[in-house]
Amino acid sequence: MGFRENLRTNRQVGGVLHSRLREEQEAQAVWRYKPEYQGERLAEQLLANEFADSELLNAKRQRALQQVLEHAYDTVPYYRHLWFQNRVRRRQLGATGTFESLPLLSKADLVANYQQLKASRCIADDKLAGISKTSGTTGQPVKVDQSLRSRRMFAWLKQRELRWFRFDPALTHLSIRPGEELAIGNDGRRWPDGKVLKLECWPYLQSLFQTGPAFGFASTNAVAQQVRILEEVKPDYLLIEPATLENLAMQSIDDATLAHLQGVQVISQTLTADMRATIKQVMQTAILQNYGFNEIGLVASLCREGGRYHVHDEHALVEILTESDQQAAVGERGKLVVTCLTNSAMPLIRYDSGDSAVRADDLCECGRTSPSFIDVEGRYRRLAQLPPGSYQLFKAIQAEVNHYARNKPGSVFQYQFCQMLQGRFELIMDCSDEAFADLSRSVNSVFEQSEILDMPATFEFVRGRQFRGLEKRKFQIFWSELMPDH
Ligand SMILES: [Zn+2]
Repeated sequence: MGFRENLRTNRQVGGVLHSRLREEQEAQAVWRYKPEYQGERLAEQLLANEFADSELLNAKRQRALQQVLEHAYDTVPYYRHLWFQNRVRRRQLGATGTFESLPLLSKADLVANYQQLKASRCIADDKLAGISKTSGTTGQPVKVDQSLRSRRMFAWLKQRELRWFRFDPALTHLSIRPGEELAIGNDGRRWPDGKVLKLECWPYLQSLFQTGPAFGFASTNAVAQQVRILEEVKPDYLLIEPATLENLAMQSIDDATLAHLQGVQVISQTLTADMRATIKQVMQTAILQNYGFNEIGLVASLCREGGRYHVHDEHALVEILTESDQQAAVGERGKLVVTCLTNSAMPLIRYDSGDSAVRADDLCECGRTSPSFIDVEGRYRRLAQLPPGSYQLFKAIQAEVNHYARNKPGSVFQYQFCQMLQGRFELIMDCSDEAFADLSRSVNSVFEQSEILDMPATFEFVRGRQFRGLEKRKFQIFWSELMPDH
């Protein structure tokens, strides 16, 4: 049965969908606007879209896309020249199949053509609001001009996502993130280690909604300090990056703090399914995720019911494409390609995120009609260029370390697996004497037993905190010297 038939049946058999809509409206009602906020109330409109007729939404999406393409043709030299070369004329932009024939935009294209990608003007009710820069952890730093409309969508989509996750805005929120990210909204500088940032309101929502208190702590603080702050603040919600969370989950955290924690939101990097299961077990709470990146913002969020990423299609359009750039079949993995629908300052059209995902069908238990995908894997292209088996070796070592740390909480503080030129691998670990002795034996045996490398390789287990790649700001558990720049 197709999804639309299903919708109709739902309506006929007593309004299942209507009750889902009402449920979401009740969840939205706990979010109160700031008394001084006088602008457009987009939250209610976004909510209504979630359960609207999919044909209607599809038509809306097509119109929005055509508007973006025409704007790009009229104001962005890069697209006009490139499409012209590909024999695409302005009048064809709304035609079936044209969009799918347009060339993809890679991260390297974006870096090389930044000036040519700027729109000469924004659309009528929009204007340039600033520039977003990637942190540069996944290669070369990338800059994108952002329009006001695009930038404002972030807060609205963030609130939508928190409603999906059922976060109660009256409660306490703690972010453990890179210092640079924490300071956004203050003076743009890095928030220093050792100090706790206190905010009146949850991040990003300060101009729109009333919330409980929020705290921030830099992820570059030693993990023992992170545990101390977690135990002091006892947040209801924690926002954190996967590598930081993985190290935190290996520590002994007091029961009262864990009992208090109602949700952990993992952002920015991808968390593997194994890690997700491990962390869920340790933290005994829901692990919530979204998908997005600085160039575009929030692209999709996971729903609780069906475990899928639903695309925020008022803001972004997602394609899952095979290696030959055809649409992937349902259940097939492909590259995640995103078009932004709201940034008229620098429209990114068919932007190859460098990540991959599996295309899902359009039937989700939650009843939402937006397109969805599952199983995001980050950096697919860069990982694919490593010698065969490199990433598998990392995963085997990671499993060993996590298994050990789970049984002996507080023995492993932080670790990193590094791949260097000429087949050299290194495990750097800050840990207890006992853990170093025990793990020396077991990780060496994992390495020796791995038959996954087809090259001569050496392995060294180093104790200390001389982690690599920290100049790129974000800590990465798997770091490779062989990763190409983009
Ligand atoms: Zn869903």
